[in-house]
Amino acid sequence: MSAIVGIDLGTTNSEVAVIRDGRPQVIAVDGESIMPSCVSVDANGGIIVGRPAKNQMVAAPESTVLSIKRKMGQNTQVTIASRTYTPEEISAMILAKLKTAAEAYLGQAVTEAVITVPAYFDDAQRKATQNAGTLAGLEVRRIINEPTAAALAYDADQTKDQTVLVYDLGGGTFDASLVVAQDGIVEVKASHGDTHLGGDDFDQLLMAHVDQCFFEAHGIRLMEDLKARNRLWIAVEKAKRALSDVPFARIREEYMIGDLHLDMEIARSEYEEMIRPLLRKTIDCVHRCFKDAAILPGAVDKVILVGGASRTPLVTELLSQVLPVAPRHEIDPDLIVAMGASIQAGVIKGLKTSSILVDITPYTFGTSAVGIFNGMLQNDIFVPLIHRGTALPTKKGEVFLTMHDGQPAVDVRIYQGEAPLAEDNIFIGNFLVEGLKDAPAGNEIVLTLALDLNGVLEVTAIEKRTGLSKTVSMQTGDDGASFDLDRARENLGDVLGLNHGESSRLEQAGEEKHQIIVIAKDLRKRADALLEEIDATDADELRALLSESQKVIADGDLSKLARLNESLSDMLFYLED
Ligand code: AMP
Repeated sequence: MSAIVGIDLGTTNSEVAVIRDGRPQVIAVDGESIMPSCVSVDANGGIIVGRPAKNQMVAAPESTVLSIKRKMGQNTQVTIASRTYTPEEISAMILAKLKTAAEAYLGQAVTEAVITVPAYFDDAQRKATQNAGTLAGLEVRRIINEPTAAALAYDADQTKDQTVLVYDLGGGTFDASLVVAQDGIVEVKASHGDTHLGGDDFDQLLMAHVDQCFFEAHGIRLMEDLKARNRLWIAVEKAKRALSDVPFARIREEYMIGDLHLDMEIARSEYEEMIRPLLRKTIDCVHRCFKDAAILPGAVDKVILVGGASRTPLVTELLSQVLPVAPRHEIDPDLIVAMGASIQAGVIKGLKTSSILVDITPYTFGTSAVGIFNGMLQNDIFVPLIHRGTALPTKKGEVFLTMHDGQPAVDVRIYQGEAPLAEDNIFIGNFLVEGLKDAPAGNEIVLTLALDLNGVLEVTAIEKRTGLSKTVSMQTGDDGASFDLDRARENLGDVLGLNHGESSRLEQAGEEKHQIIVIAKDLRKRADALLEEIDATDADELRALLSESQKVIADGDLSKLARLNESLSDMLFYLED
């Protein structure tokens, strides 16, 4: 039986996924789960697609095609190395590369696909997408809307009636859609967007800013040189992504033009002010969507983030100001649409599929700082850095300022919880950073929190002007799935009438549970590293055990998990060198 895949044919990037062991699995292309929707030619004039084509962009910008999705359904052509192609043909090259990667991964022919398109695509654009699939040797079993696919990824069976806002901010396009699931029918009720608004525009703003700074320093416009311009684009895009996680990003490119180097720093606050007007436009689209669908924002059950640029923290901040629920971002926003498409593909094949399982932190982690609470200045405001629901591992940073002139040290205090005042949350640990420079109040301290799969929180504080830094590891007791024993105990008070002996037994049980899950995750890492190297039968057996282990973690059946750990460990003993 040939396999059926789900494909997100995106403006900037494309992805392919398939159902394996009942769950969506994104297939890597050229070693990456995201493939640039880019077509170019190599040195011999042969067509190249994906990452190699994108890499070629700097050397051969004139024969590189990007964003072909924008032209789908139009009667037009693009030229690559003096040959012309229709948008369907270019898209077919992208689809063919995804198909080949899927075939290599699955070890069998892939002849059918479900392909996603934006909800606003008209008939001509849908038909063009279908034709591209056919050209690539794929029978397109269904064309489904991207927001519907995203909603499916979070809720595969769609048995619960709900209203979902899908906020999709990609590289070149923005869409807000209201998806309503009712009586098992999933429908896009309204969709609004801007086909020329996305992360690329943020890049343009950053490029213009860097270009201006470079011009002021050297009197040369980087934007006027095609190669320098493309290098600049790659550099600012990287900095932009970094700014989603840390408060400052450095842009450093040697010999940018002649023997001049580019070296500058951008602050997230500065960048956010550049893009705020564009993000305000996206919020206006969200409001229009509600109006069109005659649904009140308060009726939304879930907000789903889709598209790489939705990782921008300002997106979550602005959406949280107008909606009753915090946006969900635990499924990778770059992969969610392809995963949803594969769920639909699985349904067509009659496969039983379940929603995506991801390791997330169920807790928020942050620090204490001086700030305003209830209109009063307080020295104990809780400032969250890692929000609950964030996929693990994760790393987030913010900048803080010293309060006093000549302040010699800062006390970094870390808490877990949601309460606005730090002291109402669970205290995790603290440390002092001493020997700060004798500077006026406002000395910048960059605080970064990194949380790994085992719940170990690594806290780093750096005095920005000197680089003086201190890193401390803290155990949060968080395995991504365990419950908060302390809080539960406090909540229950004497309700259970436990004596000290019983409560310490409970604590021990919590610790054991934590250990079993940590061991399972360790074994999974070791097994994942082996899968590619071992023979197919062993790999299948290993995959079956891993999938069983994942299911058992979700079900919380720990004695079964302990037995599975043993079986996995035995198997790895034989397979590892
Ligand atoms: P998509 O079209 O969904 O593949 O989204 C691609 C866009 O997302 C590009 O503009 C990327 O630069 C942007 N992007 C990817 N990762 C991040 C990130 N971590 N923070 C901000 N933008 C990002």
